[in-house]
Amino acid sequence: MRTVLSLSLCLLAACSQPQPVADNQAANVAPEPKPEPRPEPPKPKYRTDIVITTGVHGNEPSGYLVQDQLIEMGFTVFGPCNPWGIQNNNRHLQDGRDLNRCFALDDCPEAEAVREFLRNNKPGLLLDLHEDPDGTGPYLIQNGPEDDLGRRIIDALKAEYDFDPAPQWSLVKGEDGLIKPTRPMLGFQKITRVYSLGYYAWLTYGCTAITVECPGTWPEEKRKKYQLRVCEEARRIFSELHPPE
Ligand SMILES: [Zn+2]
Repeated sequence: MRTVLSLSLCLLAACSQPQPVADNQAANVAPEPKPEPRPEPPKPKYRTDIVITTGVHGNEPSGYLVQDQLIEMGFTVFGPCNPWGIQNNNRHLQDGRDLNRCFALDDCPEAEAVREFLRNNKPGLLLDLHEDPDGTGPYLIQNGPEDDLGRRIIDALKAEYDFDPAPQWSLVKGEDGLIKPTRPMLGFQKITRVYSLGYYAWLTYGCTAITVECPGTWPEEKRKKYQLRVCEEARRIFSELHPPE
């Protein structure tokens, strides 16, 4: 009898103890909602493989002066390519050479720095921002004869700028704002080993490479705005011609 009584008391005591409830067994908790299928991420609007280079010629600073804005706009930018020239407002490198003739050479550290950047950021399109101290109107030099990107950029900007009707670069003559060396002309550069950055990028990566020029005599704000507008329109049109994946 005593045994039965103590067992009953014991059971009574056990029942009165609060029982821990496991988190996952809590009563009246709604089941976790099933995750909704994630929406597809939106397709990028613009190409991201557009590389912009600035300050190849140190006395043509407008591209370098807008490069922070270009980075904010999402462009991949390298510059100034000629830091000594930018510091000293000098077209040439400290050793007197023109960097934009040195891209085939092994003994030019500034050219190698640009080439290394391009190896790590392969361009689908390269825009090299310059100014022409003697220029009377803006113009583009397009390395890459296979597309009409340069012409389309000029058409898009014609209402804003009076492009040089007869631009000339070395012996190569252009028209209506565009200089577009033909394949034989580009081949001739290979023989001479005098490579501009635009030519080097086209030859190495097969990308269209445009040297962007505006008169160095324009007020600084106008030069900066022009560089930004060309980059903006180039990206829009290049992305239409070659939609991003
Ligand atoms: Zn230049």
